[in-house]
Amino acid sequence: MGGFAALESDSPEMVASFERSLSFAVLKGIAGRCPRCGNGKLFRGFLQLRSRCDACGLDFGFADPGDGPAVFAIFIGGFIVVAAALIVEFVYQPPFWLHAVLWAPLILIATLGPLRLLKGLLIGLQYHHKAAEGRFYPGEGT
Ligand SMILES: [Zn+2]
Repeated sequence: MGGFAALESDSPEMVASFERSLSFAVLKGIAGRCPRCGNGKLFRGFLQLRSRCDACGLDFGFADPGDGPAVFAIFIGGFIVVAAALIVEFVYQPPFWLHAVLWAPLILIATLGPLRLLKGLLIGLQYHHKAAEGRFYPGEGT
């Protein structure tokens, strides 16, 4: 048992806690929960962020995923809907109005559904990233 053993035991623990906090923040984000405590709600309404966590008081001001989630969601949702529309067209060849009736609601569901999950996911990642930054460079301010 020397100084060397202490060095060795240090780093796997740090890696483990880093990974634990990453998966925690991401899972809680997807679930629409605060990435720090996991109890408070992230959203007020469907996509509106709360200003702070009502359980631990974490300020959600840091969380600004911008248009990132929307771009992902439109891309993924659009791809799914277009693929489905093509399959239905080739297999059933329905009249045009049926396409309109089918795909308009599906576009909304396929883009808005994942949008909230993606927004929560990105906020979880963002929170984890900023928390990790603070940990890796302690006392770096000015
Ligand atoms: Zn919280």
